[in-house]
Amino acid sequence: MEKIDARSVELHVQFSECGKNAKEWARRCMLLLPDIDRYKVWRKKGFGSLYEYAAKIAGLSRNQVDESLRILKKIEGMPALQKVVSSKGLWAVKPVATVATKETEKEWADRVESMSRREVEVFVKGMRTESARAGAEIQPGKVFVTMSLNPQVLDQLKKLKGSGEWEDAIKKLLNLRKEKIENKKPDPVQSESRHIPKPIERFVKRRDNYRCVVPGCGRKFSELHHADGFSRVKCHDPDRIFCLCSGHHDLAHRGLIANEAKKPGLWRVRKEPDRSGERCGIDQLVQKWRKVTTF
Ligand SMILES: [Zn+2]
Ligand SMILES: [Zn+2]
Repeated sequence: MEKIDARSVELHVQFSECGKNAKEWARRCMLLLPDIDRYKVWRKKGFGSLYEYAAKIAGLSRNQVDESLRILKKIEGMPALQKVVSSKGLWAVKPVATVATKETEKEWADRVESMSRREVEVFVKGMRTESARAGAEIQPGKVFVTMSLNPQVLDQLKKLKGSGEWEDAIKKLLNLRKEKIENKKPDPVQSESRHIPKPIERFVKRRDNYRCVVPGCGRKFSELHHADGFSRVKCHDPDRIFCLCSGHHDLAHRGLIANEAKKPGLWRVRKEPDRSGERCGIDQLVQKWRKVTTF
């Protein structure tokens, strides 16, 4: 390292001291942001946005504002982690904010208190990999996935995600795709013929991406299926025709798909066939099968 003179040492000490205080005060400002936003203090004081308010008054960057709001929202109702935030700052809690739950926040708070930030990060990462391997979930209703991506693609995705959640970014993409496809949706066609008109067939295949729509299946489709039963409705409605694999198509015609009148995301395989007649277009196959089983 270069030899340092007395003046430089003095300057450095002064700068570091001020910096430490600046960080402490920035931290206190960040903690106030959720309430500043809740009460729309910035608007009442004539600022165009929370960002402008935070930048002009406290010198906080857009990213600092977003991250503060995000992390503090995550740990709402978690008093132990909130205590850590006021003593060690937001960034100390950041790595655990997404994995902590009301049940586990106390343990996380202890870890953050006793480990370095780097150790906590490695710990969380390891836990995620572990749980991904075991197929377990850290947060109820959430699943961790691992994918291999080209770095450029990942970079683009990260930019799209910004400081938000991966789930929201992916949903945005899915919605864009849906909009684009739904834009070209053909009208339903009333018909005596079971034969699905070509434009409707094309639309359904494209929408379902040639995959079975039953949740958790995803096999390549083998049949297009009228969820309302063609013989009953005599209609080719693009919103009610779906791609199914041969296995699930078979189950559907045996009345073994529950919630078939709803959208496929809600379909479930039944253990017992539906005898209440919920499935509208019970066709001959089902009738025959019923005769056999009720015999
Ligand atoms: Zn069918
Ligand atoms: Zn299937």
